[in-house]
Amino acid sequence: MIVVKVGGSLGIDYDALCEDIAALWKQGQKLILVHGGSAETNRVAEALGHPPQFITSPSGYTSRFTDRETLEIFEMVYCGKMNKGMVERLQRQGVNAVGLSGLDGRIFEGKHKDKVRSVEDGKVKILRGDHTGTVEQVNTHLLNLLLDNGYLPVLTPPGSSFEGVAVNVDGDRASAAVATALNADVLLLLSNVPGLLQDFPDEASLIKTIPAAEVESFMKFAQDRMKKKVLGAAEAVQGGVGKVIFGDARVPNPVQYALAGNGTTVQ
Ligand code: ADP
Repeated sequence: MIVVKVGGSLGIDYDALCEDIAALWKQGQKLILVHGGSAETNRVAEALGHPPQFITSPSGYTSRFTDRETLEIFEMVYCGKMNKGMVERLQRQGVNAVGLSGLDGRIFEGKHKDKVRSVEDGKVKILRGDHTGTVEQVNTHLLNLLLDNGYLPVLTPPGSSFEGVAVNVDGDRASAAVATALNADVLLLLSNVPGLLQDFPDEASLIKTIPAAEVESFMKFAQDRMKKKVLGAAEAVQGGVGKVIFGDARVPNPVQYALAGNGTTVQ
């Protein structure tokens, strides 16, 4: 089982990605695709007059502040345009893809965080009304129903809180939870960079391998949103996933390219 997570940053070639996934699927490889949609959500939110608001936690993680209106815009883009776009690309390649959010059947289920701490001008502020959460449980029954019957699941945030409220969950950590729950051989985290860079944004400073036991010590190289990817990788390898590869989603055949060892391999 391979879990492929593709980001929502600019520069990603989704056509090449879906063609590559289709080629592997036709060879009998079991796969799940998880995707994001951040850049498009930012664009649509601006256009709708509700610009995105990013917050930095006291521990240095950056995330989107998701009030109710933002959540609705987020759902339009992630579950609508992005998810159906991915399903259509796969269907055109002859793969019977089924697009679901983590809210559907509670595929991603966890705790709702209504209050977040945000550092602004050196001061810690408490913001309320946030629709974010963590993934603590994965509905593997539903995923296996689909996989065992020849469907390729295409998953995207949001997830569901234990109370059934839609919550924005981090896509990298959600895919790590899926890979762990399904005992995946590989988790691919594809984005618009060649992998984890020691000296971001210098692409020549690519870190080729990270020993599983030392993932946390590589956290210092990751800035802003890359931190969540490193955290997701740590969670996946600690949860028993064979290996995690940070790969480039801007190249032809991005899945096979990453599987061939191009990128940063955590093992
Ligand atoms: P996606 O939406 O594709 O999942 P993110 O935008 O969340 O990806 O995270 C990837 C981004 O992290 C890169 O585009 C890059 O700008 C940033 N980044 C920060 N530090 C690093 C690093 N050390 N190596 C690679 N990318 C980094």
